[in-house]
Amino acid sequence: MVKQIVRDVFFLSQKSEPATKEDLQIGRDLQDTLQANRERCVGMAANMIGVKKNIIIVNMGMIDVVMFNPAIVSKRGSYETEEGCLSLDGVRKTTRYQDIEVEYYDFNWKKQRQKLSGWTAQIAQHEIDHLSGKII
Ligand SMILES: [Zn+2]
Repeated sequence: MVKQIVRDVFFLSQKSEPATKEDLQIGRDLQDTLQANRERCVGMAANMIGVKKNIIIVNMGMIDVVMFNPAIVSKRGSYETEEGCLSLDGVRKTTRYQDIEVEYYDFNWKKQRQKLSGWTAQIAQHEIDHLSGKII
């Protein structure tokens, strides 16, 4: 289901909780909501649709990947950049890593480990920050 985008900074600055198998529908809602905001959005965290659970979605070109309980297990090559966010106006400076490795659970609740680099890695880092209440 397409959900409303939350822009309440107080809500967005709260920490999210671990996701469980019962939360798969939230992943589907993220797919629908990203699809509906495609032209201005490349990824989202669940709190951006009003649910404080550790779930994100990351566009990887042809596909959108939903990650339940994502965690960055390694990172390499820091750089300074500027980012915008669907929940905020304008852009802000931030530090990101060129290469990261992330662990997460997929829709079949199977643990996955994936290497990401460049733009895709940057989106994942931005969305994972949302889960700890950090907005850029
Ligand atoms: Zn954001």
